[in-house]
Amino acid sequence: MVNAHKIACIPGDGIGIEVIEASIKVLEVMQPLFGFKFEYTDLPWSSAYYKKNGRYMPPDALEILKAHDAIFFGAVGAPDIPDHISLWELLLPIRQGLQLGSNVRPSKIFKGVKPPLANCEVGDLNWLILRENCEGEYCGQGGRSHTGTPYALGTELAVFTRFGIERHMRFAFELARQRPRKMLTLVTKSNAMRHGMVLWDEVFYDVAKDFPDVKWDKMLVDAVTIRMVQKPKSLDVILCTNLHGDILSDLAAALSGSIGIAPSANVDPERKAPGLFEPVHGAAFDIMGKGIANPIATFWSAAEMLRWLGEEKAADGLMSAIEHVLEHGPLTGDLGGKANTEQVTQAIISALKQ
Ligand code: ATP
Ligand code: MG
Repeated sequence: MVNAHKIACIPGDGIGIEVIEASIKVLEVMQPLFGFKFEYTDLPWSSAYYKKNGRYMPPDALEILKAHDAIFFGAVGAPDIPDHISLWELLLPIRQGLQLGSNVRPSKIFKGVKPPLANCEVGDLNWLILRENCEGEYCGQGGRSHTGTPYALGTELAVFTRFGIERHMRFAFELARQRPRKMLTLVTKSNAMRHGMVLWDEVFYDVAKDFPDVKWDKMLVDAVTIRMVQKPKSLDVILCTNLHGDILSDLAAALSGSIGIAPSANVDPERKAPGLFEPVHGAAFDIMGKGIANPIATFWSAAEMLRWLGEEKAADGLMSAIEHVLEHGPLTGDLGGKANTEQVTQAIISALKQ
């Protein structure tokens, strides 16, 4: 019997459209090979949709999404719309509205990819960044006053709740437990931020007691950037807040070779909502329309989606194809190659068929 999964597909904007299109081609070839079926709902929610309708999504968007098993997302943003509008109209309301409390961002150095650090080789960097995904610095609370005057002020509150922190931390410990090294590093800024960040420390000590088999340590976010560069091997799972995870995962992507290969999974650890799978990168206006975007970040995100849906064999098959192409080429420009999106897509398809 073939497992059918309902996938809500939101290509969005810029290179998001290009890398989702490439991924759909790969997934079409995979379905008969691995015995699963994707039934897509194409959702045109994007900056073009906003320009036409005055909003990025219809009012019942969350209800529409909830009727699916997973959401496959490209990127959002347009050069003529402020980023805080596009982000707050589309991606953040989905993450928060569906309570996708954890953002899982793996990164590693693959064979064939030349990382920027001289001291780093294949196997030296293999991290899972666990970014809190619904609250903290991106909770959207705050305000403006005296706008347009010399006295203009803006407040940006970071709201942390025991509920949100604990849910995220338990999930991080569970994932750490499944990894060979079973190590976890808590990252905060609890020296300078004496309220919410201290709550993070407190909740962490409570949760850690339930996972005695996981080796953990804790670091301040500034110090962990040094460790990521100087001793990448000493890190495994990196557990952090929304803002810190946003920044650290871009650093992780760069250290592993390119943001063009970095995937992410936005999930409700309790699985009450469909997970959202997307590349870490954004709409990348500088390269959109040229057909040269690296599709691997989105292919890897698709593999994470397959795993989340229980299609382990398909996920492993796609990861093997990705590893093969990264090792033997062709590669896109961000990885030092000359290939375009289509050539990498066809190479992945050939590797899958072998
Ligand atoms: P966001 O605000 O959504 O995070 P951003 O402005 O940070 O977006 P990104 O789109 O993430 O920018 O990309 C930063 C730069 O990295 C791009 O300008 C582009 O040159 C490069 N880049 C990003 N994604 C890819 C990709 N898939 N392939 C090749 N280059 C990429
Ligand atoms: Mg960015």
